[in-house]
Amino acid sequence: MEQITPKDLEFVCGGKKIRLNIRLVNRQGLTFGDIALIKSLHKKKAKLYKKMSSETEASKIKAYAKEAKDLEFLLQEAWGFPKDESFHPWYEVPHCTCAKLDNQDYRGTKYKSISSDCIVHSQGE
Ligand SMILES: [Zn+2]
Repeated sequence: MEQITPKDLEFVCGGKKIRLNIRLVNRQGLTFGDIALIKSLHKKKAKLYKKMSSETEASKIKAYAKEAKDLEFLLQEAWGFPKDESFHPWYEVPHCTCAKLDNQDYRGTKYKSISSDCIVHSQGE
């Protein structure tokens, strides 16, 4: 089988250079097909984030956030990880004002730090 090289794992997406972690790729036993799927999901996510950034209506922003969550589940599936919402970077979506560092620390736990003025995640209308 053809060997996956670091070069196969680099791509530009939404103006940002992304490099998938080769150790993780090897550990998960990913194929070229899996990598192509992961790249296309990242591109979909970048497009969604772009649309979401220019949206001003809270209800539509929340709907985009739900789409983003679905994409994160598909990404976890493509990587061969369990579908676990607690590992999603949900606080990185456009318009979110929740604390990034706190929520990074909470990854994989049941805790979330929700800012009361976040139009994406706070419950208030
Ligand atoms: Zn938020």
